[in-house]
Amino acid sequence: MSALAGVVYLVGAGPGDPGLMTARSLELIASADAIFHDRLIPPGALDGVREDAELIYVGKAPRDVPSLRRPMGALSNGTSVGQGEIHERLIEAARAGKSVVRLKGGDPFVFGRGGEEGEALREAGIEFEVVPGVTAGVAASAYAGIPVTHRDDASAVAFVTGHEDPDKEETALDWEALAKFPGTLVFYMGVKRLGDNAAALIAAGRDPSEPAAAVERGTMAGQRTVVATLGTLAEAVEREGIGAPALIVVGPVVERRETLAWLERRPLYGRRIVVTRARAQASGLAATLRSLGAEVVELPAIRIEPRIESEEARRAVERIGEYALICVTSANGAHLLFEALANAGLDARALGGTREKKQVREVGTGAAEPEGQEGQAAAPTQTATIIAAIGPGTARALAAHGIAADVVPERFVAEALVEALASVEVEGQQVLVARAAEARDVLPDALRERGAEVDVVSLYETVREEPAPEAVEAAQTADYVTFTSSSTVRNLAEALGDRFPANARIVSIGPITSEAVLALGLEVAVEAERHDVDGLLAALLADAAA
Ligand code: SAH
Repeated sequence: MSALAGVVYLVGAGPGDPGLMTARSLELIASADAIFHDRLIPPGALDGVREDAELIYVGKAPRDVPSLRRPMGALSNGTSVGQGEIHERLIEAARAGKSVVRLKGGDPFVFGRGGEEGEALREAGIEFEVVPGVTAGVAASAYAGIPVTHRDDASAVAFVTGHEDPDKEETALDWEALAKFPGTLVFYMGVKRLGDNAAALIAAGRDPSEPAAAVERGTMAGQRTVVATLGTLAEAVEREGIGAPALIVVGPVVERRETLAWLERRPLYGRRIVVTRARAQASGLAATLRSLGAEVVELPAIRIEPRIESEEARRAVERIGEYALICVTSANGAHLLFEALANAGLDARALGGTREKKQVREVGTGAAEPEGQEGQAAAPTQTATIIAAIGPGTARALAAHGIAADVVPERFVAEALVEALASVEVEGQQVLVARAAEARDVLPDALRERGAEVDVVSLYETVREEPAPEAVEAAQTADYVTFTSSSTVRNLAEALGDRFPANARIVSIGPITSEAVLALGLEVAVEAERHDVDGLLAALLADAAA
């Protein structure tokens, strides 16, 4: 159910991995009028917000959210917001009849001050709902392969703040009791005071040789875990440069990590990989790389600018049924072709063909049926347009619109499509090539040579994307940079200049892309054998394993 007017939702966003957000949290984020959020929320957590929703950053540290597709709300001027002010703003928004989401990292009631906010709302007579989130104490431990309880090792677990204000005498932690606690101790906010806290525990009688771990950025890109003992962890954390957010786990369960660590066993764990595809296409590749353990830096070099409103596109769509053959040379082209059809009030049926049959083409044999066979009805026969896709990705995009491509070459280059079309009769036929503005002319040239009347329509243009400074910075230490087209190579090189990550291994989708890399005087470390995204992934994995 969507967010209701006048209600405040205290929502947990989980520990950082977007996949650990609850279904309820996503539903509320997608429907709320106003969203007040902290700094520690998963990347992309706000991607699903309504176009007209108010986003208000109320974190404790200045920050802009790079993943966000529009500017932040009124309070996002870099100043920190006091708890009292947050209460006032929540109450004010609810009283104005808005549906309000208060989004916090982890769980709102675990060191999240959700309790205080709920109390303030109750006092003001505002209705609220609490949506639990996956708390870091459980999640970061789990991603480090540490079960916080275990039949043999720990029958209890305590969540403890490691950041108790030392001046706050009356609520100071009872170190004696914690030292005696029969189970796992999990400290939140415990990095800064780790040395003092460990010393206090040991002084109160906890065994200094007890296993202990620090998990930095649990469930997020670049998660790191350091294992030592209670007595030595502070020193190890200092040496490894572990910083917030990090979680401290103390107890014999930490040793289970030797068997249970799973993240580090993923094939691309610890590798930083740059994805240069246009943002709209990058998500699939980026998600797969992440699921293989990689830390992904999205550094889109290009952006797709649709051109389906152009005169040539309009004309092609108007006479779409007259084409004997339509060649689609990218997934973008496929989607935009159907968008153009939809704009003209048409759909896939327009490709069913309104043309009178001149010849029957048989894909694969090239045999033409003799015309005017005896005994056949004289009524004009209608025939469907032949649809050719440049590769499997384009064929999949066409399939999403209900079209099964007739011709799909195995290799994903224009030359291969020319070959695959050798058996299709095109002489004297109308052919449409739907593609990007700056594509090569191999395909239309070859078809014209064979006597076809070719309309080339640019459905989109790829333009250079301005790189985000954080992404450029992160890319400097990348292990791999992946390129899926020659235009991304050229645009990225132009955009980055001497900030091009020159030490990374370059992974190219195929020979044309590799040529563009070589032209820059750079080396191609890996070239895919199959020239699509799956082929690129396979090649990258093989290289990483080598
Ligand atoms: N409400 C949150 C906790 C907020 S307190 C929750 O339920 O998880 C902030 C502390 O949580 C940090 O100092 C750190 O100790 C811990 N923390 C939050 N996210 C973390 C993460 N991804 N990895 C490790 N620790 C994390």
